[in-house]
Order: sequence, then C-alpha cells, then structure tokens
Amino acid sequence: MKVLCIGRNYREHISELNHTVPSEPVFFMKPDTSILTRNRPFFIPDYGSAIHYEVELVLRICKVGKNIQKRFASSYFDAIGIGLDLTARDIQTKCKEKGLPWLVAKGFDNAAPLGKFIEKSALRDIHDIRFHLEMNGITVQKASSSEMIFSFEDIISYISKYITLKTGDLIFTGTPSGVGPVKIGDRLEAFIEGEKLLGCSVK
Ligand code: MG
Repeated sequence: MKVLCIGRNYREHISELNHTVPSEPVFFMKPDTSILTRNRPFFIPDYGSAIHYEVELVLRICKVGKNIQKRFASSYFDAIGIGLDLTARDIQTKCKEKGLPWLVAKGFDNAAPLGKFIEKSALRDIHDIRFHLEMNGITVQKASSSEMIFSFEDIISYISKYITLKTGDLIFTGTPSGVGPVKIGDRLEAFIEGEKLLGCSVK
C-alpha cells in the first residue's frame, strides 16, 4: 500500500507558510514505514530539531482505480480517518530552497500517526466533516472538509490520472492553519465530529 498526501489545500495554512494558492493539487508520498498506529508514542528522531504536527483527514481507498472521473470518485473510498502529517520543517525548508524533493522531511519512520477510521456511511455529510487537533488539551487546529480547496473527489480524480489507486491506499487530504512544533512530553489528540480517534504522546 502507499500513502499519498496533498499539500496546500486550506487557504489559511497556505498563508501561514507564505505560499500561493495552487491551480492544481500538490501531492507527495510517504512510505508505508511512516505509518504509526494503535496510539503508539512518537519518538523525536535525533535529526528532528523542528518536527511540526499537521492534522489531516485521511481517505481509505477501497478499490483499484485509474483515470477516475470526479462523479465516480466518492465510490473509491469507504472510510475517513484522521492522521498527522509530521514534517521536519527545517529540513523541508532547506529542501525547498535547493529545489530538492521533500521525501526526507515527510517520509521518515513514524511520520504518519494514524487514528481509527469511520465508515463513510456513518458520517453526516462528507463535504462538511468537522475535525480538530488538541495539543496538551488545547485546540490548535480546527477546520471542516468544506474549507478544502480541492475536494476529496478532485483529489482522487487528479492523483489517479498519474498513479493507480489500490485497495488499502491512504490519502492525507491537507492540513488547515495552526501547524506548529512538537516537543518531548507533548500529547496530541485528534477528533472527527468531536470523537477522539487518535492519541499520540511525543517522547
Ligand atoms: Mg500536510
């Protein structure tokens, strides 16, 4: 399986990182070894002087698809979860300055803590899923899927033009504003519609 991630999909987050709004989705990958499940702790690696949290809704792909049309795209995922796109921001900034790929800044081991999934059919409205992240009990990121620049359907259609989607693949759909660094001792908890689906202690 593979983990695909969308960047720059919420306007306020684009502003906070001084980027411009893209005309097409920006995406990248993380290896499967980046996934951290079962609420296990995240250990800050020795190269991670500026690891940032980014809370994101995550799509679980349920069938193989290539060149998926937007009007059929929603049938290609069956569940939505929440995860953290952990980013070594200092390394990413250096990569960007040099025009190099971001893989090392986004794809290191355990850079994708992943919570429980909710079946799509159990959600009130997939185009208005409210989610938030608490750090040490304080809300630091909060948004709705209605605020995304590129919808779930846009993302699936766009990615599948280039890369075949397969059952079990995951798509991180971008982070809203409020990203920031983690430090040892922090506790991150992520919620969809008020239900806690992910807990991760930073060690
Ligand atoms: Mg992200």
